[in-house]
Amino acid sequence: MKLDILVLAAHPDDVELGCGGTVAKHVSLGYKVGIVDLTRGELGTRGTPQIREQEAKDAAAILGVSVRDNLDLKDGFFQNDAAHQMVVIRAIRKYQPDIVIANAVYDRHVDHGKGASLAYDASFLSGLVKIETKDDQGGNQKAWRPSAVYHYIQSHYIEPDFVVDISDFWDTKMKAIRAFKSQFHDPSSAEPSTYISSPAFLKMVESRAQELGHSIAVAYGEGFTVRRNPGVNSLFDLK
Ligand SMILES: [Zn+2]
Repeated sequence: MKLDILVLAAHPDDVELGCGGTVAKHVSLGYKVGIVDLTRGELGTRGTPQIREQEAKDAAAILGVSVRDNLDLKDGFFQNDAAHQMVVIRAIRKYQPDIVIANAVYDRHVDHGKGASLAYDASFLSGLVKIETKDDQGGNQKAWRPSAVYHYIQSHYIEPDFVVDISDFWDTKMKAIRAFKSQFHDPSSAEPSTYISSPAFLKMVESRAQELGHSIAVAYGEGFTVRRNPGVNSLFDLK
């Protein structure tokens, strides 16, 4: 299945928090969007990999994505090295996305910056024909290089290079975030409190989206960074 946009994420819930509104918006615009989580988030303090798998499925259905895979890399310990790049190259060649969206270039969680570099490097390497990979049936995969890689913004504030208006998709984003019931604030939960399970965390997520939205004169926004200049066809592409 060819995708228009492939979103890569170190952990299930990174996509929802970082760019859930942008994903839902592009699905509604008719683009085929898929998510590939690198790990099962098995080191998360709350919940279990099984619970998070179901939550990830529920969130994917809310966002309307065409596919959600998991590469089963080791939470906390995956590396941006040749072995891991080959795994991500296979996923990129499988879905042949025009755009890859990946983790924040640096962040509080060490996996986020690593996930960003791994996605960026694999997106480039995926275009080199002399790197050979096999598909699920054992056939040779074709080289494929996405035309752009964008990074969402996560916990640490990073000045965005552009902001997507997600005002009409704010409710969908929050619904998808709340699908991860084990991770976020739940007054009935007996599990230990964490940085992201406090009520303050989701308030921060909303404030961030409002601030970014305000910066482009809309209600809610999601910011992205690029490693090369973003191009536009005309000045009217900018709002
Ligand atoms: Zn994460």
